[in-house]
Amino acid sequence: MARKPQSRGKCQYCGEETAKGGMTKHLVKCEKRAQAIQTADAGKKPEETIWHVRVQDAYGKDFWLDIEMRGSATLEKLDAYLRAIWLECCGHLSKFTVGGWSGYDVGKSRRADDVFAEEIALLHLYDFGTTSETEIQVVGSRQGKATTKHPIALMARNNMPEKACQECGKPAAYLCMECLIEGDEEGDWFLCEEHAEDHPHTEYGEPVALVNSPRLGMCGYEGPAEPPY
Ligand SMILES: [Zn+2]
Ligand SMILES: [Zn+2]
Ligand SMILES: [Zn+2]
Ligand SMILES: [Zn+2]
Repeated sequence: MARKPQSRGKCQYCGEETAKGGMTKHLVKCEKRAQAIQTADAGKKPEETIWHVRVQDAYGKDFWLDIEMRGSATLEKLDAYLRAIWLECCGHLSKFTVGGWSGYDVGKSRRADDVFAEEIALLHLYDFGTTSETEIQVVGSRQGKATTKHPIALMARNNMPEKACQECGKPAAYLCMECLIEGDEEGDWFLCEEHAEDHPHTEYGEPVALVNSPRLGMCGYEGPAEPPY
């Protein structure tokens, strides 16, 4: 079997695309990012530790983000960010843990500096029924100033995974919840524009437009999967 090509993503500073495994290296040498940091460091914001964090879905590794988080920011801010860009469907409960369900909880009021000094890997759980599990991994840190006025800055994001229509193999734009829940074949729930139109299933509503989030197809999630700032 051919190996699945590695997920690719885009640097938010310069627009360059790299494989998931090459993005950390790119961010270190990205000139546009270096300029943004230089400009920030010349400004009036307080200097602090800025954490580089890789976020990825625990089961869909094609969904990943590289973010910078201010050391003074609380996990509450990270929770809000994850909800906005990937997770929010109906205001479910969420928590940060070390070790998941069998591990221990890390309070959302704690600051990145305190938490990441002790733990470099957290698991975020959203919705305690149909749970989305998100891995939070510290990649590194820098001393300096934040490049935006926000607690979190998006540095890189995965490109939307390409899916093929189950009918014709053309690029898919929708998924059918009924095929996903009741179908037998793994992955046979994606549809192109044309085949979404005459698809017969309505048990769980019309086909859902694909968005760049690992929560699509879980609970009532429909996007928009946009960063909050
Ligand atoms: Zn770049
Ligand atoms: Zn929900
Ligand atoms: Zn099709
Ligand atoms: Zn269907």
